[in-house]
Amino acid sequence: MAVAGEGCWLIDAEGKRYLDGSGGAAVSCLGHSDAHVRSAMTAQIERLSFAHTGFFTSEPAEALAAKLIENAPEGIARVYPVSGGSEAVEAALKLARQYFLEVGEPQRSKIIARRQSYHGNTLGALAAGGNAWRREKYAPLLIECHHIAPCYPYRDQRPDESAEDYGLRAANELEAEIERLGPETVMAFIAEPVVGATAGALAPVPGYFKRIREICDRHGVLLILDEVMCGMGRTGTLFACEQDGIAPDLVTIAKGLGAGYVPIGAMLASQRIHDAIEGGSGAFQHGHTYHAHPLAAAAAHAVLQRLVDDGLVAGVPAKGEALVAALTDRLGSHAHVGDIRGRGLFRGIELVADRETKAPFDPDRKLHVRVKAEAMARGLICYPAGGTIDGRRGDHILLAPPFIISQTEIETLADRVTDAIDAAL
Ligand code: PLP
Repeated sequence: MAVAGEGCWLIDAEGKRYLDGSGGAAVSCLGHSDAHVRSAMTAQIERLSFAHTGFFTSEPAEALAAKLIENAPEGIARVYPVSGGSEAVEAALKLARQYFLEVGEPQRSKIIARRQSYHGNTLGALAAGGNAWRREKYAPLLIECHHIAPCYPYRDQRPDESAEDYGLRAANELEAEIERLGPETVMAFIAEPVVGATAGALAPVPGYFKRIREICDRHGVLLILDEVMCGMGRTGTLFACEQDGIAPDLVTIAKGLGAGYVPIGAMLASQRIHDAIEGGSGAFQHGHTYHAHPLAAAAAHAVLQRLVDDGLVAGVPAKGEALVAALTDRLGSHAHVGDIRGRGLFRGIELVADRETKAPFDPDRKLHVRVKAEAMARGLICYPAGGTIDGRRGDHILLAPPFIISQTEIETLADRVTDAIDAAL
């Protein structure tokens, strides 16, 4: 039982301390005791705790929206705050659908996503995600979604192919799928810029998302980027897609937005989408009782101040490099470490039975789950990603520590994850 949090550390009921090497699941970007966020929350709760959005907006909700837009990718102009990542994805899918109704293309309803992806556990988000075992039990309830391969250079780039050529080949699968389905029926393509929970910080090769953007534009398909896990500075820029030089039509954020202090997420939309709704039926037909909750919005606004104004995101690239250096030092030539990858403070370690052939471990060993347990025994939280995903076996360890992590803590993280992997093997 966790009873307290202090900086990058969690403390359990027995007083044992755990270095939070994954921020839970890439949530706690500010650590567990940020004074600025705590005082913003106290001030808000003393002023206004709740006002239903059917009647009012609130100061913190407006301040949060303004600050997000100020820092958002080009063309993104509106914010719809919700209570978490799945809700943000649901809102994006429904807004995409309503957009096509407003612009007179009601036949567009199909969604394309990628096999190694996780977009949430509610029905729409689950349908979009590619994780077969999460979907299996609920298959009859899921809406129509189609899945293409992710951009996975470690596994799929051919030896005779440059990274750029591989990126184009991987992206072109989207075009083939749109053409197969009939371009006039496809509503949206949804993807995580850097894949998190299903593949351990899988970053795209240069040019991949530029081609994806071109293909979406050519066929009038909306591009939804799911930055619930990789957003809010985790990869070294506030939005991960900034590094790919593209802007989406819709983008979802959550985890790092509340930084663990409150449950909050948001769906952000382009001006074009907003204008189509405003000039059409006049309102997005959606809503939740707790959307844009004043306390959650006040906390998220304070989180953004820490991330942007206090320069915490600006510090992520250097800390990310330090983390990679520490991991490479200990695991770079490890017989069972196939790949160390990712961006910023979002890093993945792919474990393999054989480095040469890249053969994965027998999934029945559940190696990634054993690493998690061995790490906890050693006072480290790291996130086990993987298992069998759409027939593809893999064991990945995801690291996503708070942005306030010190060099000493980076070394401790690398030592403990190395020991945990060795103990689990
Ligand atoms: N999208 C991505 C990329 C995620 O990683 C997650 C959660 O891990 C979600 C959506 C769902 O978010 P939540 O668990 O807040 O509903």
